[in-house]
Amino acid sequence: MLFQKTAHELNTLLKAKEISSEELTEIYIKRIEELEPRINAYITKTHELAREKAKQVDAKRVKGEKLHALAGIPMAIKDNIQTKNVLTTNGSKMMANFIAPYDATIVRKLKNADVVLLGKTNMDEFAMGSTTENSYFGATKNPWNENCVPGGSSGGSAAAVAAGEACYAIGSDTGGSIRQPASFCGIVGLKPTYGCVSKYGITSFASSMEQAGPMTRDVEDCALVAKVLCGFDEKDCMTLDVETPDYLTSLGKSIKGLRIGLPKEYFEYGIEKQTKDKVFAAIKKLEELGAIVEEISMPHTEYALRAYYLLAPGECSSNMACFDSVRYGFRGGNMVNVADMSRESRTLAFGRELKKRLMFGTYIQREGMIKDYFLRAQKVRTLIRQDFEVAFKKYDLLVTSTTYAPTYEFGFKQAEPLRVYENDVYTASANLADVPAITIPCGLVDGKPVGMQLIGKWFDELTLFRVAHAFEQATDFHSNIPVIGGEINA
Ligand code: GLN
Repeated sequence: MLFQKTAHELNTLLKAKEISSEELTEIYIKRIEELEPRINAYITKTHELAREKAKQVDAKRVKGEKLHALAGIPMAIKDNIQTKNVLTTNGSKMMANFIAPYDATIVRKLKNADVVLLGKTNMDEFAMGSTTENSYFGATKNPWNENCVPGGSSGGSAAAVAAGEACYAIGSDTGGSIRQPASFCGIVGLKPTYGCVSKYGITSFASSMEQAGPMTRDVEDCALVAKVLCGFDEKDCMTLDVETPDYLTSLGKSIKGLRIGLPKEYFEYGIEKQTKDKVFAAIKKLEELGAIVEEISMPHTEYALRAYYLLAPGECSSNMACFDSVRYGFRGGNMVNVADMSRESRTLAFGRELKKRLMFGTYIQREGMIKDYFLRAQKVRTLIRQDFEVAFKKYDLLVTSTTYAPTYEFGFKQAEPLRVYENDVYTASANLADVPAITIPCGLVDGKPVGMQLIGKWFDELTLFRVAHAFEQATDFHSNIPVIGGEINA
């Protein structure tokens, strides 16, 4: 099926003129129309724009213009990324009618590569959550099991790719929001090094930690998309002015002799046995491929979750101040004066999880509190970063599980809220330490995907792609495809 093919496979077909971008776009649109009533991966569909773009790309191809490898290939973008003249809701009632007036830098780059945008994907409100249940637009279902969550906050992006409703998608990751849903939906997801990808035009949640990144069917696509996204941007002073390497050069290389650290603490926080077994089988495969895997200790891992859940709400309480309903956003309630208008609009528009974090984040930054909580968490962040510095003196990369278990059923968050937050312990450390991390599928437990996480040195995405690709070539977990509603995916 064409909707199950990777971008590099589709590019080959497009180049050989075996299919046109217009035909391909129609295939995806049909698929979206069939599946959306069950999956709800999209908040906004931009099918007319997609058709127009596909037509333009086909015309360029006929003229013999040199095109990017992603040109004419249908994809999707998370709805916290500004897309000019298209609704950009952040999964929130606050921004439910907001048409973005400009393109985020990464959207501009993708447009320059002539990608075909199918729509904007569902997400937890303002990217806060791990299940996509916090979306104003209703939860997204996991294509592998519709009773289960797709993960979050980029759950719409992950589900769209897994269900064949987009060839690949863009997500954002502040504490795991690319990797955890990618793992739950059986796809590849990369959180690049902090400072690789411009945040200009991406709604800030915890600005010191987040990065946008690719969510794809395989590692080659991930490398291809990452190359488009990464790079210095004068509009984001946190991007580093270094040349982005050609990530594709890392594919197909041997991993013999590479040193991989296995942080034992990551396997101590309630990881379920079957998940652990799958990840250890994958690690064994890495050893068979010639890597040297050794157990190490990263003693501050234990504090990562607590540091994250102080710093992220703290930063978010400041970042969210711009949603005051004055110049844009939902407005409702008592209009007597500006302060009341703003307060009441926020009360009516924001969801529970967001309010919880705003209250908590504001509280811990109060005078008299900030020293004991927010600033102390900053110090813990430094200790966590130092754990990585020590580990990377000896090891080329680290390997862990991406989550402690596969996806769970809807309602689990309400029943076991702390267990849901706990998931981030596997992913948040990489955000706290600014290092890159990738998740790749490494098997199924009860028909649900499990992911292995590889964590690399600062700006060493090359090694991550190299190891992930070698693993993928030696296994076929990435070709597992969900069977949606009893259909036969031959
Ligand atoms: N699950 C985490 C949270 O709720 C991560 C969110 C994210 O990465 N955007 O904060």
